[in-house]
Amino acid sequence: MFEEPIGPAGVRIRERPKTKPAAGSVAVAVKAASINHLDLWLAQGAQRIPPPRVIAADAAGVIESSGDPAWRPGDEVVLFPTLCCWECEWCRAGQQVKCAQFGVLGEHSDGAACELIHIDARNVFRKPAGLSWPEAAAFPLTFLTAWRMLTTRAQLRADETVLVVGAGAGVAVAAIRIAKHLGARVFATSRSEAKRQRALELGAEAVFDSAAFSKAVRQATGDGVDVVFEHVGPATLEESMRSLAIGGRVVTCGSTSGVKAEITMPRLFFRHAGLLGSTMGNASEFESVLKAIDGGLRPVVDSVYPLADVQAALTRLDAAEQFGKVVLSVSAL
Ligand SMILES: [Zn+2]
Repeated sequence: MFEEPIGPAGVRIRERPKTKPAAGSVAVAVKAASINHLDLWLAQGAQRIPPPRVIAADAAGVIESSGDPAWRPGDEVVLFPTLCCWECEWCRAGQQVKCAQFGVLGEHSDGAACELIHIDARNVFRKPAGLSWPEAAAFPLTFLTAWRMLTTRAQLRADETVLVVGAGAGVAVAAIRIAKHLGARVFATSRSEAKRQRALELGAEAVFDSAAFSKAVRQATGDGVDVVFEHVGPATLEESMRSLAIGGRVVTCGSTSGVKAEITMPRLFFRHAGLLGSTMGNASEFESVLKAIDGGLRPVVDSVYPLADVQAALTRLDAAEQFGKVVLSVSAL
């Protein structure tokens, strides 16, 4: 539980009284949860969410008790991490990301790094049978986010090329896996030689250092790539724009290097470029991810820490040492 805005040391294990789920909600006994950069920002106080807050958007577990007839104790599930009202016009149209009450599990509500979570039954989906518990906890937020970015937003096609900037981050690793799954040619950048190597192992055709990568990208692809997958922001956006082929799209879900960026306008209009934003994803997009997992798509687990070592897990993210997802094992896997 996030208790003090001082970074990983401000997240501590606490006991809370056990309660019963409300009608329409289920209680999920969490097997594994996973953390995202968001948890780090929360712990640093950057999200301005007042503590206490149970962290983590991602979890997989077993239904312990159910206030919804669709689920029974013992059912194995994963959590859809988008929060919404489920009743407004946007929600009923399947556009939960546009709901006025949109939020992220573990940011705008207590999250999943706990033994038992109560959650709206509409946020619960069948756990893919082919995944281990750590894998099932590893994919929801990053795969949902990357799926919406590459498909709904950037409209990536199988005959196109995509450049994934900052390979190593959970969402970037998800993007490499999804783009490969969709049949696209994948390129990646990272500051770390080890992470560039891992990206190659995941099927990237070529990898580049993060400094001034656009020249190398253009050399490797001829005219540049059709889609750049961004989450870094000001530190890489100019190079990302320079890496685009004519008619290419930059799609972004984050800006870990700062909130304001400059763009060279002629590059945007003369080259018919697109600059697209995206956050999280809808329930229908989560279902598409689950279907793709049934078709062989797999998350990448970087490491598994016991829940009691949550501070060490957050510190690993803080040091950007990970490749893929950092998972917390909550009960015996
Ligand atoms: Zn709504």
